[in-house]
Amino acid sequence: MIETKGYAAQSADTDLAPWAFERREVGPHDVQFDILFCGVCHSDLHQIKNDWFPGIFPMVPGHEIVGRVVKVGDHVKKFKVGDLAGTGCLVDSCQVCENCKKDLEQYCLEGSTGTYNSLERDGKTPTYGGYSNTIVVREEFVLHVSDKLNLAAVAPLLCAGITTYSPLRHWKVGKGHKLAVLGLGGLGHMAVKFGVAFGAEVTVLSTSPKKEEDARKLGAHNFVVTTDEAQVKAAMGTFDFILDTVSAEHDFKMYLSLLRTDGTMICVGVPSKPAEIPAFSLLGGRKSVAGSGIGGIAETQEMLDFCAAHNIVSEIEMIDMKDIHTAYERMEKGDVRYRFVIDMATL
Ligand SMILES: [Zn+2]
Ligand SMILES: [Zn+2]
Repeated sequence: MIETKGYAAQSADTDLAPWAFERREVGPHDVQFDILFCGVCHSDLHQIKNDWFPGIFPMVPGHEIVGRVVKVGDHVKKFKVGDLAGTGCLVDSCQVCENCKKDLEQYCLEGSTGTYNSLERDGKTPTYGGYSNTIVVREEFVLHVSDKLNLAAVAPLLCAGITTYSPLRHWKVGKGHKLAVLGLGGLGHMAVKFGVAFGAEVTVLSTSPKKEEDARKLGAHNFVVTTDEAQVKAAMGTFDFILDTVSAEHDFKMYLSLLRTDGTMICVGVPSKPAEIPAFSLLGGRKSVAGSGIGGIAETQEMLDFCAAHNIVSEIEMIDMKDIHTAYERMEKGDVRYRFVIDMATL
């Protein structure tokens, strides 16, 4: 077994604290890489607090992981010692179901294996995430990371990046489309960057007028303050797509009124309460509400390669491991531009 250091929550009502644990030995198809940086996703906090479902404890969060390969199994072909590597939200899936065969491992019909707070395919071994010094992952779920980009700022691409890239690609959002990005946080700021890179006209919808300057710096063409009635009225019926990244409760009826005929509102945020969607808001204009969850491995690699080619990374604030509690407090208040990344050398 591989002795590993990390930060874990021992239960839903205890804070993260240093914890030593073991990872499996590197198998013939496994890659072991030492973790250099790990992004802090809002879902880390939701999961250690049992907000969505009862978690598996002790829990080592973290699924925006980048590092350097230190060991590979005998049958590993795509990686060698010294390569940069990354892992996102998934470390395994059945590999044989209809969805896995279509490179949609995130929708594995047998249930995919999450990077943490999940069980290996044996149904009993817990997985532990990236708030740790090293990780062992089967080759198929390890991504190649370019050395051209700031490695720390690449980490959030593994969740925030792919979660916004995948739906924009699926719905072929690009030139000639008006895209609204709802919420300018970790996900939203990546949605703006990708929307602009794909050629769409991008508008940020936000309750906070203070975010306009940042939105424009990120490349957004327009900004609508959603608490300003006149601005909302002017935007009604104008968008082909709304990418909804908000995890707090919000008024779907109002946002659906901003879509033009045949427009689609794509949800990637996860509010804890179900939304109310009046049928009239949909049938008046043949509108759709859709959802999208992270992305498959092939598409995640495509996204990382696209980012390397177009010089796209996340906007980050680097933190030491011991400052994770303050980072969570600030994240809960939406006070982060736009993703915390842990420098794992400080573990
Ligand atoms: Zn995440
Ligand atoms: Zn599957």
